[in-house]
Amino acid sequence: MSMQIAEKIKSSGVVGAGGGGFPTHIKAQSQVECVLVNGAECEPLIHKDVELMTHRCAEIVDGLRLLMDATGATRGIVGIKKKNSRAVQIFREALAGSELEVLELGDFYPAGDEYELVQLATGRLIPPGGIPLDVGCVVSNVETLFNVSRAAKSSPVTHKFVSVAGLVHEPKSFWVPIGTSYRDLIAFAGGTTQNNFVMLISGVLMGGITSDLDEVVTKTCAGLIVLPSDHYLVSRKNRSTEQMNRIGKSACDQCTACTEFCPRYLLGYDIQPHKVMRSLGFTTSGADYWNKFATYCCSCGLCTLYACPEDLFPREACEQAKNTMRATGNSYLQEKTPQVHSMKNYRRVPTKALLRRLRIAKYEVPTPFVDGFPVPKEVRVLMQQHAGKPAIPGVSVGAAVQNCDLLAEPEGSSLGARIHAPLSGKVSEVTKDHICIIVDAVAESGGKPV
Ligand code: SF4
Ligand code: SF4
Repeated sequence: MSMQIAEKIKSSGVVGAGGGGFPTHIKAQSQVECVLVNGAECEPLIHKDVELMTHRCAEIVDGLRLLMDATGATRGIVGIKKKNSRAVQIFREALAGSELEVLELGDFYPAGDEYELVQLATGRLIPPGGIPLDVGCVVSNVETLFNVSRAAKSSPVTHKFVSVAGLVHEPKSFWVPIGTSYRDLIAFAGGTTQNNFVMLISGVLMGGITSDLDEVVTKTCAGLIVLPSDHYLVSRKNRSTEQMNRIGKSACDQCTACTEFCPRYLLGYDIQPHKVMRSLGFTTSGADYWNKFATYCCSCGLCTLYACPEDLFPREACEQAKNTMRATGNSYLQEKTPQVHSMKNYRRVPTKALLRRLRIAKYEVPTPFVDGFPVPKEVRVLMQQHAGKPAIPGVSVGAAVQNCDLLAEPEGSSLGARIHAPLSGKVSEVTKDHICIIVDAVAESGGKPV
């Protein structure tokens, strides 16, 4: 039975919907003690997970049970922020009398980091550089579990649940076919309230930035945050690497605030961004020594966007250091067993403080679940929507496809995920990067509520 679930998850193309895009069938093939449901949704302004938890609890719990079944897990724990009291209540009622548990989380960033979640739920610390599996856990996002539930009924991943927030007339959360353009998403949110805007993709702290409305939704897109082009965050995110390094080299006074607030450092891992900043002042040989202190960075962004009083870029310095280490074949292994820092509980960063620091408090509004996204005229389905290698297209220009038809799959046994047609229509373009479909408006009339 358990292998059958893993196979169904694989053939349905389910990947981590929380951002990582790791193929879920691999997790389903492991044997663990505990499946942890990540409903923390700690990125500010995006509330699609809490909307999904409030409206689709039954499917999420079904997905949790299926994943527990597949992995042989005896514990299932649902992590939800206490402040989302409606979702907490719904899950408490759904799980009452069962062996499954709700874990109420504080409103901190990054409550949804899997190292944090595993430690909070089980008291265990993942070994340095390891994954939850190393301590008998699998962590899965709520939407991923929703997709697992559908996969068990042989429904592939064709839609994505997203929030659109910020400078739009109607901030909301909704299902959208994969491959839909950001332009269509913004239109459904009532359009923007001003002309000069940019979009942060999937999150303020960890997401990317773009002004290209033709970019499209993938299996890991959490939504869009529309901000004015001259917003503080936009100027922070649009710095070139060269500028970041130049400012960092001259202005870092080694105050250590970036390290003191680093959530991974506070969990006991040897990550010290202030030391990594020293690498900026060295030639390659000197930098090697300092680069190693970036090894356990999870790119949460707290050091760059919250902790540093000089508005420098320690996160980006860590990312560069990790890339350099990979390219030069260097690695670092912490030998000391991690131990939670005595100040951990006092240095947590409340979401409210983060909202103020990032100057986005005024955009913090509900994004209610709304049905009825109109059928797009065209979708552009990307071949790289997941961890691993891009999928290989298996259809040709001119082919008629039905929704849920297989479009592309990983080559051989390489890590990746299958990709399916989100809507019915005719294939208009195929490249190694994407497949475009002109949607058959008649076949899809009225949209496709998921
Ligand atoms: S981004 Fe900064 S705060 Fe976050 S884990 Fe990396 S070094 Fe620590
Ligand atoms: S917080 Fe900023 S100034 Fe202080 S050590 Fe870190 S990067 Fe340097």
